[in-house]
Amino acid sequence: MSQHVKEFQQSAEKPTDKEIDSEIITNLTTETIGSANVDESPIKFSGLNIDLSYHCPLECDHCLFEAGPSRSLQGMSDSHIVRVIQSAAEVGTFYSISIGHQEPFVQFDRLCEILRFLKSNFDGYGIAMPTTAVWVKAREFAFKRLSILRDLQVENLMISVDDYHQSQVPLQKCITCASVAQELGMHVTIQCVYSRTSHRLDYYRTLMEPHLDPDKTKWVESPFCPSGRARKALSESNWPQRNYKDGSCNVMQVMYVAPDGSVTPCCGGGLVASGLVMGSLYEKSMAQICVEIEQDPIMNSLASHQGPAGLVETLQKEHPAWKPREYYTGTCHACFEIMNDPSLVEFLRKSYEERKVDLLLQRLYMEVKEGLFASCQQSG
Ligand code: SF4
Ligand code: SF4
Repeated sequence: MSQHVKEFQQSAEKPTDKEIDSEIITNLTTETIGSANVDESPIKFSGLNIDLSYHCPLECDHCLFEAGPSRSLQGMSDSHIVRVIQSAAEVGTFYSISIGHQEPFVQFDRLCEILRFLKSNFDGYGIAMPTTAVWVKAREFAFKRLSILRDLQVENLMISVDDYHQSQVPLQKCITCASVAQELGMHVTIQCVYSRTSHRLDYYRTLMEPHLDPDKTKWVESPFCPSGRARKALSESNWPQRNYKDGSCNVMQVMYVAPDGSVTPCCGGGLVASGLVMGSLYEKSMAQICVEIEQDPIMNSLASHQGPAGLVETLQKEHPAWKPREYYTGTCHACFEIMNDPSLVEFLRKSYEERKVDLLLQRLYMEVKEGLFASCQQSG
């Protein structure tokens, strides 16, 4: 176990981390600014994922954000967090919020202030929290922290469990974290990211299942995407051999907001591609960005094909030199490789110039077919 993980675990024993931030307290408004009507919300633009910073006590090889202990802890300012949430509330469709893609327990007091802000200003939102469980020391300590989160309306904990996390965090911490959360009434999602040579979800499931409540546990796994640190740290021989159609895409369903305020309309493994950034909340409102996304032909192609199949087809037919790889780790990998190459993005934009309306109609047709505007009570 590395020194910084040990140091973090020692500091995590202290139940507060007030020294990190208290600015948000002065920025909170007590006026109610929004209320999610889950019954009427479309699935489109329904999830808001806010990343506070890229600071993380861990440093995983497969990390798409290249997060780690040397990255800035503060990240997004408190006033900006409030602005992001207010701007999303004005759109009127978001009903599910996830805060801190990295280890949010690093800034526990700050996190609680944000959750208090949400609780006093919004009604009916589902809140999910990702964690690595690195902060778990003893069951009582986990109980204390998770009780606070439960009272602040956190309904779901998403716990990362895979070889990359477990080379730094003992699995027992994840088991303790999950079982305490369930004892408190929360649901738990165990998410495993795998490579060609790593253990898969079934391995971890066998170890964890006897300790968990099956009615409150969801198990998910996905192949890693060779983006961010994973591109440098994991060699091609480690890539699961799939293709550009394998996997799902949640473009236009989830809006990812980076610590610098930039917005990407998905939370897939390729979201760090420069061409997927659709605006900055420092410059535009979330409503403006949503409108621009809906009119963008590349986004419409991604949404109507639920992945990059349309982009691949166009490049194969029209680009003089581009060829797809023999295999990709999945949809997000192919999407990342295309959308992170400015010359390919420009080529696609030119090619789609005269097909903008067709692509818009294709996406609208897909939305009707898939019932994306139907009542989605079960998703809230
Ligand atoms: S994958 Fe998650 S836990 Fe690992 S370094 Fe990145 S943000 Fe931290
Ligand atoms: S395929 Fe692309 S747009 Fe879709 S979720 Fe993956 S990275 Fe995002």
